[in-house]
Amino acid sequence: MNVLVLGGAGYIGSHFVKQALKQSHDVVVIDNLLTGHKQAVAKQAKFYQGDIRDKNFMNRVFQTENIDAVVHFAASSLVGESIKDPLKYFDNNVYGTIVVLETMAKYNVKKIVFSSSAATYGKHETMPITEEYPTIPTNPYGETKLMMEQMMKWADLAHGIKHVSLRYFNVAGASSDASIGEDHRPETHLIPIVLQVPLGKRDHITIFGDDYNTFDGTCIRDYIHIEDLIDAHLKALSYLEQGNDSDVFNLGSETGYSNLQIVKAAREVTNHPLPMEKGERRPGDPDKLVASYQKAKAVLGWEPKHNISKIIESAWKFHQKHPHGYEE
Ligand code: UDP
Repeated sequence: MNVLVLGGAGYIGSHFVKQALKQSHDVVVIDNLLTGHKQAVAKQAKFYQGDIRDKNFMNRVFQTENIDAVVHFAASSLVGESIKDPLKYFDNNVYGTIVVLETMAKYNVKKIVFSSSAATYGKHETMPITEEYPTIPTNPYGETKLMMEQMMKWADLAHGIKHVSLRYFNVAGASSDASIGEDHRPETHLIPIVLQVPLGKRDHITIFGDDYNTFDGTCIRDYIHIEDLIDAHLKALSYLEQGNDSDVFNLGSETGYSNLQIVKAAREVTNHPLPMEKGERRPGDPDKLVASYQKAKAVLGWEPKHNISKIIESAWKFHQKHPHGYEE
């Protein structure tokens, strides 16, 4: 297939590009490079620098390229930032997706795989979360992802655009050859921040909150390896290619790790004492988020293959090889 990847220079998008090329897809990338890294995009992909909100630019790309399917990673994705600057999120994420769907309808492109989020669910008491759980987002980021999913539902009814929305839990790790991985500026995610300690970039890790309603008081998350996540996207593309209906799937591992367990696992992988301090809670953090992936298993034939040690090991290899990220 000729696949258009929106946000293909970002952490998740760049891994998709690499794996899609390996599976003999032709790949066209759009990225505005506000947070993405050009160096992360495989050379065999055709690259357009531009913004999905720019209708003229989008028309130009769709006119030039013969697109079969779109994979949409182009969005702002920081919960904290979304609370401080919600309109940026509605503009970039929601308005951006309006332009994407309009352009797809105009050029008769009928398949889209969409990067959604566990943030669409909000807070729930009972784990694991299935796709049947109510979606009550607790921050603008989650709200925009839910609105994007809903727009796709109606674009299917009106224009026959079929979508697969993939609700990610906590994505981490790097490619198996350690060539691409996580490089956010500033970094906010737990695993890359923990690894900054053995890298010598910070002297300790601060764990946000130790009075949550969990077995050790720290938050519990469900971590999924980037290459497992990408595998689900490729399976979702085949699912759409086979003419199946629009649907929504969770991507997680059904296994929760507390923040303290992550630090402990990182000590084992890196052989570093990894000093830790306890800090204040971070606003908006739910106690526990763990996914059921039974639907993705039954329908897409997908299962995660990397456990938490493998996830941290792959991230550690990437950061050791690229201590300054993509800057060097
Ligand atoms: N966290 C932490 N210290 C940090 C960064 C994150 O204790 O320096 C915690 C955060 O409060 C949450 C968990 O690690 O409980 C996972 O956070 P992350 O930002 O990686 O992912 P999120 O679950 O917010 O998508």
